[in-house]
Amino acid sequence: MKKLIFATSNKNKMIEVRAILEGIDAEILSMKEAGIESDPEETGTTFAENALIKARAVAKEAKEKFGAENCEVIALADDSGLEVDYLNKEPGIYSARFLGHDTSYDIKNNYILDKLKGVPEEKRSARFVCSIAIILDDGTEDVVTRTIEGRIGHEIKGENGFGYDPIFFVPEYGVTSAELTPEQKNAISHRGKALSIIKEKYFK
Ligand code: IMP
Repeated sequence: MKKLIFATSNKNKMIEVRAILEGIDAEILSMKEAGIESDPEETGTTFAENALIKARAVAKEAKEKFGAENCEVIALADDSGLEVDYLNKEPGIYSARFLGHDTSYDIKNNYILDKLKGVPEEKRSARFVCSIAIILDDGTEDVVTRTIEGRIGHEIKGENGFGYDPIFFVPEYGVTSAELTPEQKNAISHRGKALSIIKEKYFK
């Protein structure tokens, strides 16, 4: 039996992850479902480093917890964020902590919109970045990083997704990523692309 434990406490991320990994030959568990409480400090300087830090912490706890049950334990973690070129790629790896961890996304998104007030389209480029780290039962480690390019919009729009989605304009669809359906977003998003590669490589 295989258990895949995904290192996040973000419910919205977990919904996306389940949809993208659907059909794999493993039981997919959130940390909460696995009874794991790991919350390591994200001390890395890149998305890839932070994803590995999270995946290693979960892999260690999961091995201790399930290793004796004769089941294969696979740990996965995602570190992701928004890079706004006009703001020197901020918030970047600090996307979740930007303006304070508990500050609402309404405030975070309005802050970015204010900073870009009057800035022309060609200078509003931005991207979501996602690094997915995987640690297999035998200790093998891998990290895959993918992006989705877009622009910062002019207002908050859309109810889907989470975080910075309502201000992230996706040119090929002409709407924000919060206006895409979950299926549309997962097909083109940073997380969707990185996880699909992991799925193809390790769960075929
Ligand atoms: P992490 O959970 O530490 O990786 O933080 C991810 C941060 O980036 C969160 O603040 C999210 O709001 C933001 N983020 C990552 N992916 C997305 C996305 O797909 N849409 C909107 N915001 C995202």
